[in-house]
Amino acid sequence: MANILRIRLDTKTYDITPVPDKYRNLGGRGLTSRIISQEVPPDCHPLGADNKLIFAPGILAGSSVPNSGRLSIGAKSPLTKAIKEANAGGAAAHMLARLGIQAVVLEGCAEQWTALKIDKTGLTFFPAAALQAKGIKTCIDSMREIHGDSVSVISIGQAGEMALTAAGIAVTSPDHFPRMAARGGLGAVMGSKKVKLIVIDDAGCTPPEVKNKALFMASVKAFTQGITSHPLAGGLKRFGTPMLVGLINELGAISTKNYSQGKFAGAEKISGEYIAGLLDSRPNGENSHRCMKGCVISCSNIYTDAAGEVVVSGLEYETLALMGANCMIDDVDIIAAMNAVCNDFGLDTMDVGGAIAVAMEAGVLPWGDGPKALQMVFEIAEDTKMGRMIGNGCKHTGEQLGITRLPVVKSQCLSGYDPRVLKGTGVTYATSPMGADHTCGNALPSPANPSYDPSAASGQAPVSQFLQRYFAAIDTLGLCLFAALPPLDMPELQKHLIDCVSAILDESLEEQYLMRLGGMVNEEERKFNKAAGLGRQDDRLPAFFKSEPLWPSGNRFDVSNDELDSVHN
Ligand code: SF4
Repeated sequence: MANILRIRLDTKTYDITPVPDKYRNLGGRGLTSRIISQEVPPDCHPLGADNKLIFAPGILAGSSVPNSGRLSIGAKSPLTKAIKEANAGGAAAHMLARLGIQAVVLEGCAEQWTALKIDKTGLTFFPAAALQAKGIKTCIDSMREIHGDSVSVISIGQAGEMALTAAGIAVTSPDHFPRMAARGGLGAVMGSKKVKLIVIDDAGCTPPEVKNKALFMASVKAFTQGITSHPLAGGLKRFGTPMLVGLINELGAISTKNYSQGKFAGAEKISGEYIAGLLDSRPNGENSHRCMKGCVISCSNIYTDAAGEVVVSGLEYETLALMGANCMIDDVDIIAAMNAVCNDFGLDTMDVGGAIAVAMEAGVLPWGDGPKALQMVFEIAEDTKMGRMIGNGCKHTGEQLGITRLPVVKSQCLSGYDPRVLKGTGVTYATSPMGADHTCGNALPSPANPSYDPSAASGQAPVSQFLQRYFAAIDTLGLCLFAALPPLDMPELQKHLIDCVSAILDESLEEQYLMRLGGMVNEEERKFNKAAGLGRQDDRLPAFFKSEPLWPSGNRFDVSNDELDSVHN
C-alpha cells in the first residue's frame, strides 16, 4: 500500500500520489482520523463540500494475517458533529490494498448522482441516476451484472440519499452480502457528495510486498494458532455474536425496554443457541459464515426463512439487543426482517432500534409489536414523516416526541450493554471520541481477569483508557475485533501481532506499540473534537443512568465525573 487516491467530485478529476510522510505507516482508523484532522475544517458542515469522506484499509490489509480486512470509513459526522470512523468487513479493504491504495479521499460534491470504479488502470466516473432511490441490493446486483462477480461494491441506500443521520455505508462480502459501516451517519456524508456507489476491481493485481518474509510467516502462523485455540473462537463459530444475548442477559445488562431493565423475558427466543438451532433446521440456513477472505473464526451467519429464502447475513447481537430486547420484541423472524430492510435502505440497526424503542415509550406503537415496528422501518424509504423521524435516529425521535430518557452520548445511541452493570463500558460510551460505541472499548468480565469487577464504582477509567487505546490501534491495523480479543488474555499473541506489523512495515516496533499507536489516534481525534466545539460536558452519560436504578440489579451509574475526566488527559 503506497498511494493516496484523491477524487475531486466537483471537477470529476483525480490523482494517485505516493503517501506523504505525514500519513506514513498508518492505515484504517488511524489514517482516516489523521487525514480528517489535517484536512477537514473542524467547524465545517458535515454535509457540506468542505467535509471529506475517506476509505482506508488497515495496515495489515492485503496480507495473510487472519481477519485483517476491515475497511475504515471516516468523516466529520452529521450525527455526532465530531470526528467519526466506522468500519466494516467484506472484500473491499483487501482489494484496495492489492491495488496499492492506502486511502481513497472523496473531496467536494458531485453535481449529479455518480458512481466510481477503481481498478488497476485508475478511476472511472459514470452516471448513477438510474440507481437513484434504489436499495443496496439493487446496487450490488446491477454492478455484478456489469462488472462481474469478483468486484466489491461500496454503496448507500435511500437513507444516505435522504441524508438521514442513521444512514450507513455498505461494503460487500466476498459472497455479495452487504456489511454495514453503520454508525454516525456516514451514509449521509456519501449522499451529500452524490456518490451512490464505488466499485472496486483488483483483477491483475498482486498482494502488497512483505519486507521481512521470514518474520512475517512465523508470526502469522503463531498468531493464527493462538486465536483459533482461544475458547471464544469455538463459541463464535457455532453461535456468532448472538451468543452474547444469553451471557449479557444473565449479567442483567442487556438493553431492555428503552434501557429501563437489564433482563429480557424473551431472551431465550432471540438467543444464539436458539438461532443456531433454527438455522440448522432451515434450508440454506448457515451458521459459521465468513464476512471476509482469511477469516479463521466465522462468526457470521446466513439467516433464512422457513422456505429457505435468504433474509439477512449476518444477524448480530447488537441488532438483537436494540431491535429485539430494547423494543421488547422476541420474534427473531421479525427482527431479521427489520435487519434486512435496514441493510437494504442503508441504515444503522442500533440507532433505528433505539428510535423505535423511544417511539414505543411515547406510545406511538405498543411495546413488543414486531409487525408495527417492521412497518415503521419500511416507512423510512417511503419517506413518510414518521419514517424520516425514525431514520434520523434515537435522539432526533426523542426530541420530536418529547421523550427525555434518551440513551445517547454525543447524539449516538448506546450499544446493547447497560452501563449501570458494565460501568467500564459506560466510561467508554461517555468518553470515546466516537460517541457511544462499544467497539471502542467494551469492558466485559473475563475468566482470564477474575479480579475485574465491571460494576465497581471506581477503577473503571484505567480499564476503559487501556481498551480505547487498544481498539483504536486494532482499528488502525484493520483487524476484526474478535481476532483482537484473544491477545487480551494471551499477551504472547500481542507480540506475534506486533511482529506481523513489524514485518510488513520493515520497522522494529516496541512492546508498547499498540498502546502508543492507539493513544496517538485517540489524542488526534479528541483534538479535532475540541476544535469542533465539544468539551467535557459531552463526555457524560444521560442523567437517567445515574438516577434510575436498573432492574433487577438496582445498579446506578455512579462513576464520578473526575474519573471520567481522567481517561483522556
Ligand atoms: S470473525 Fe466475524 S466479523 Fe470477524 S472477520 Fe470473521 S466473520 Fe467477519
